[in-house]
Amino acid sequence: MKANSIFIKAFYNDYMTFEDLEVSAPILSALKKEGYTNPTPIQEKSIPIVLKGGDLLACAQTGTGKTAAFSVPILQLLSENIQHGNKRKIRALIVTPTRELAIQIGESLTAYGADLSLKNTVIFGGVSQLAQVNRLKSGIDVLVATPGRLLDLIAQGEISLQHVEIFVLDEADRMLDMGFIHDVKRLLKVIPDKRQSLFFSATMPPAIVELAGTILQNPDKVEVTPPSSTVEKIDQELYFVDKGNKNALLLHILENPEIDTALVFTRTKHGADKVVKLLVKHQIKAEAIHGNKAQNARQRALTNFKNKTIRVLVATDIAARGIDVDALAYVINFEIPNIPETYVHRIGRTGRAGLEGMAMSFCDHEEIAYLRDIEKLIKLQIPRNTIHPFPMEVAPKMDAPAPKKAQGGGGQRKPNPGAQGRPNPNKAAAPKSNKRKFFSAKKG
Ligand code: AMP
Repeated sequence: MKANSIFIKAFYNDYMTFEDLEVSAPILSALKKEGYTNPTPIQEKSIPIVLKGGDLLACAQTGTGKTAAFSVPILQLLSENIQHGNKRKIRALIVTPTRELAIQIGESLTAYGADLSLKNTVIFGGVSQLAQVNRLKSGIDVLVATPGRLLDLIAQGEISLQHVEIFVLDEADRMLDMGFIHDVKRLLKVIPDKRQSLFFSATMPPAIVELAGTILQNPDKVEVTPPSSTVEKIDQELYFVDKGNKNALLLHILENPEIDTALVFTRTKHGADKVVKLLVKHQIKAEAIHGNKAQNARQRALTNFKNKTIRVLVATDIAARGIDVDALAYVINFEIPNIPETYVHRIGRTGRAGLEGMAMSFCDHEEIAYLRDIEKLIKLQIPRNTIHPFPMEVAPKMDAPAPKKAQGGGGQRKPNPGAQGRPNPNKAAAPKSNKRKFFSAKKG
């Protein structure tokens, strides 16, 4: 949770302080302990709106400081009006799509509220509900939950939301992607109509705008980056590579010792496991994080990655949501996501809190149609790396029609015989010593 020391100054407003935003003394001291000196733009804009009691529609990517943008004013509002009575009641509800994100929000609430007498707890599926129910029974003020487990416990009568004053829907666009929208709509029926609502989404497709309309009343709107724009500080590179050479390209890239840790994305759980096997076989410490893994295995992999016990974390999109690793500099898209917004989410794992980051994407012939959609969405041609040792046998055609579903995963047009793990002898191997030289293609 500690903030990174290397902030790019421009990311923060040097003149604005948390005191200026009228954040209360106990929270100020907690933020100081976290190393936060200045609010990020989303915090600067959101905190006053929430403190005033208004509804908020915020378009912000993960990594911009949005957790504190809602957690800080919520803690402040609740602490100004403590109503424990006999037992604490759930007065704020934060709903978020994944367990990892829920856990991180819980940790943030605990950190920012360290000097307050409020209690929070986190509930999510995939683990026994017993400990969660016991914590709920002891009384809590703020509940952070994923939708499925929340609805389960409501149905079992273990949770009452009738005292909720503030409702936060976090990462609403992910909720949509993950099919949670019906759960959210069911939830809205059991929370009081009279409430303050805060709605966060990295992108604002029409379905999300419509959902926001059903949740919010006369919201103030806050946007820190245009919808779906990629975080500017992230260097992006595209490697056209035949499917059969992706393993070799990944190993080649990881030969660079400057990459101390990297988050690698695959589209499927099976794909993630295969990449881990490959890396482990080549003495690169790696673990996978995906929905088939038990919750404690996912947490363990994440902890090992954070403390650098492993060098590579291989993740599927759903599992990776909410991963917050300080100073994560490299994201590698081993496969191009088929939903263009997912690309924005993936590369948002790096370049967080104003740090510089680098996102490298491997694109084979079958993925060109996905790439086209992504570039249309981000309104940018991702710079091509044309100097890597595994160029495609057949030059990529950006205007090629979307391929029919590949049979057996082998839709590659022409296999690259003998190229398994072997650099193309006609291409000079890229120098390894210099990160910029190693990775930079001619931009444009
Ligand atoms: P979030 O977008 O909420 O996931 O936050 C991204 C990262 O920024 C987390 O590691 C936070 O601890 C960090 N962070 C949030 N707000 C600030 C701030 N005002 N100053 C420094 N770091 C921050």
